[in-house]
Amino acid sequence: MNILMRFINLLKIVLQEVDKAKSIFSLLKKDIKMRIVLQKTLQIGEIRKECKRYNIKNIHQIALEYHKQKELQLKEKTLCYEMLTKSGSDACGVMQHHSTKEEQEMIIWSINHYLGLNRDSRVIESSKRAIEVYGTGCGTSAISGGHNSLHKELEERISKLFQKEDTVLFSTGYSANVGAISAIAKGKNNLLIVDRESHASILDGCKLAGCRCIPFKHNLIEDLEKKIKRYGSKYDNILVIVESVYSMSGEYAPLKEIVRLREQYQFLFYVDEAHAFGICGKDGGGRCQELGLSDSVDFIMTTLSKSTASLGGVISAKKEFITLVQSQANAYMFQASLSPSDTATALTALDIIRDDKSIVKRLWKNTNYFRLKLKELGFNIGEGKSPIIPIYVGDVEILLAMGRDMSAQGIFSTAITYPAVHHSEVRFRFIVNASHTIEHIDKTLSVLELLGKKYGLLEKERLLI
Ligand code: PMP
Repeated sequence: MNILMRFINLLKIVLQEVDKAKSIFSLLKKDIKMRIVLQKTLQIGEIRKECKRYNIKNIHQIALEYHKQKELQLKEKTLCYEMLTKSGSDACGVMQHHSTKEEQEMIIWSINHYLGLNRDSRVIESSKRAIEVYGTGCGTSAISGGHNSLHKELEERISKLFQKEDTVLFSTGYSANVGAISAIAKGKNNLLIVDRESHASILDGCKLAGCRCIPFKHNLIEDLEKKIKRYGSKYDNILVIVESVYSMSGEYAPLKEIVRLREQYQFLFYVDEAHAFGICGKDGGGRCQELGLSDSVDFIMTTLSKSTASLGGVISAKKEFITLVQSQANAYMFQASLSPSDTATALTALDIIRDDKSIVKRLWKNTNYFRLKLKELGFNIGEGKSPIIPIYVGDVEILLAMGRDMSAQGIFSTAITYPAVHHSEVRFRFIVNASHTIEHIDKTLSVLELLGKKYGLLEKERLLI
């Protein structure tokens, strides 16, 4: 009996060990499979999806997978995280690889300061003055004492520019979208209909609103109308959201056509002017103002971090809507208000945009020249007109290899990959600034021409493939 019991116990132990070995083996198999997939895809944005596919659920392990991928991309120089602009944002300058300390003179195409005003001595002076008078930070949210006279002046100024009754400021453009959209559309009785290519801050605002959110095909007015007709009658309010200029493609939204639909279906209309503010319309008032549509757009949003070279977010609307946003947006009520120097920066930038038209003119001259030359070379740059110029590559491995070659030749531009855009639409994004010179553009074009040939991206070569 004793011997039998000992034998059974021994058998149990052996079986347990076999089980353990099996699970280690299957983990190893999963890991090897995953390694192969990750090394091939080389897109950090895909890791979470891949973890799910290979049943990796533990957060420590998921984080480790992200970290391994980051290390790999740093080694391969296909990740921008550690490229430091040594003396700050500008059209060109020395960039440094943080880990290797290698330095390189680069022409920089990734900065959203369309007008280069972050380097303007008047802007810098007013920012300094604001610090001297108001101190560095505000210390609390606007509703609990963090609102000062500079904020009020900026709100009034932007209300006039956007032809709206009132304006509320947020600390960033991101939190303006998240805060305002979630405040306006709160509740299951509302419906959000958004362009499929909307910025992450818009989509996050939609999620936080807790109501149904339906995307429509990018810039396709027929699809927007179809969605309004199919779903609209079931809800008390519909909020349609678009960007006047799309951040990943530089394409304009069909604002006039959407306003025509609004007359027919009476929805609320929200336009993000992040990439038009300061560079389109009279005194930089954006596309809604330029097209004479301000009255037909219920909410105009922008950020202060692009043409006005500062930081902060803006929502302009009729008075009641602003009160609603101030009272319902957690990002407004529970976030410290934007700093005095950022507020002064935006105010002075707006003065300069109003008083010196030559800067905006230079931006458009650069943009049109660069777009024309890229088209002549045969690159696919899409249908946009704005200073955001995409070069569609469509294959992530080519994109990353070409990015590495480009940066080796002193050209820095962001490679846009999944999930920011669909896999088949990966691209480079060149953001033109007024502070770029024609020499910067020509040097970039000559590098792009060589690489375009090497990777088969010019129209002639594309046709041969
Ligand atoms: N909206 C759009 C369309 C944007 O492109 C961005 C920034 N890239 C934001 C909102 C957020 O603005 P910020 O970075 O100033 O917070």
